[in-house]
Amino acid sequence: MDTYRIYALRYAGPEESSRALLMWNRDWDQRVERAYYFWCLVGPEGPVLVDCGVTPERAAQRGLKNFHHPVEVLAGLGIAPHEVRHLVLSHLHWDHCGGAGFFPQAQVHVGQAEWEFWSTSPLAQRSICTILHEPGDLDALVTAQQEGRLHLHTGYARLAPGLELVPAPGHSPGLMAVKVATEKGEAVLASDCGHTFANLREDWPSIFIFNLPQWLESMERLRGLVAAPELLFPGHDIELSKGYEEVAPGVTRLV
Ligand SMILES: [Zn+2]
Repeated sequence: MDTYRIYALRYAGPEESSRALLMWNRDWDQRVERAYYFWCLVGPEGPVLVDCGVTPERAAQRGLKNFHHPVEVLAGLGIAPHEVRHLVLSHLHWDHCGGAGFFPQAQVHVGQAEWEFWSTSPLAQRSICTILHEPGDLDALVTAQQEGRLHLHTGYARLAPGLELVPAPGHSPGLMAVKVATEKGEAVLASDCGHTFANLREDWPSIFIFNLPQWLESMERLRGLVAAPELLFPGHDIELSKGYEEVAPGVTRLV
């Protein structure tokens, strides 16, 4: 049985906001910390990244606090960019895909609906969408497409034994979660299908809703895939840093 270790790599944060940002339309009077992550899966298929952080330029433009270059954070695991075999982009919001150019040899995996929306839909140019994504975010993906490294997925897809891509739309048009075989059983990286553990546990999306019915279905789907509730990991919860063993600066081992 092929199993993987899962690492969370924090490339920015913590930052603080009203909890209503992450728990849609409630808890206006409470504060919550969030951070910015990508993930590394280490196992038989070589290092696989789920998302990739952003460039220093985009971090500065967006005013990210405590930014660390994703390549330097990854170096804490002793992994160089050219060793990354697969890069799964859970979705194409700026904070998840902007660093794709750091990994020019990786096979890149994106949900087909995600790719089509952000690369072709006129709606993607509307201001409510441009706060989540900018055209420049796709440059490295266009290059990957020209080089035959861009793989678009429409449903469940097996990346390798023990690694499966799972459709989880709702926060964005074609968000993909990643199901991972671990020594503790099946785990799922939900990315922003749940910004925090509370979203997934309490069945409550954040304010960044693209399609609410789809989102509710996706959360239910992901909860049904894990061997235990604590093996369903969210996208921005500061607990990903605080609740696990830190194995290198900004890097924690989740499983
Ligand atoms: Zn995000």
